[in-house]
Amino acid sequence: MELVPYLSDSTDTATEKIRVRIRQNALLAKIACKCIRQKDVALTVYKTIYLSHSTPGGFLANERWVAHELAHVRQFMTYGYIRFLVMYLAESLRKGYFQNKWEAEARAQEEKTDILQEFYFEYQL
Ligand SMILES: [Zn+2]
Repeated sequence: MELVPYLSDSTDTATEKIRVRIRQNALLAKIACKCIRQKDVALTVYKTIYLSHSTPGGFLANERWVAHELAHVRQFMTYGYIRFLVMYLAESLRKGYFQNKWEAEARAQEEKTDILQEFYFEYQL
């Protein structure tokens, strides 16, 4: 077994990009449109972004929007799939969609488009 210095190993991990899947024309996102009364929705569940009407190209061209959804990917990664889902839904029931603290946090991240560098995207039709 090869022994590698701790520092070089952690550098490798830091530069490894996280794969995010994008699904177009997604029923889940279309239902969300009706719930929050928006014409076009991106809905993030763990490392998948579901788009209601946008194409993946149109979505990715809007860096602020991408940064917002990637903030949700980070939230899922921080707290874990099920745990974050429960936390998010509980918060939504208490405060609704726009007042939800996880949405507030994601909106605050929209300026920080540097986050895009940490990810790569796979399209799924
Ligand atoms: Zn959001």
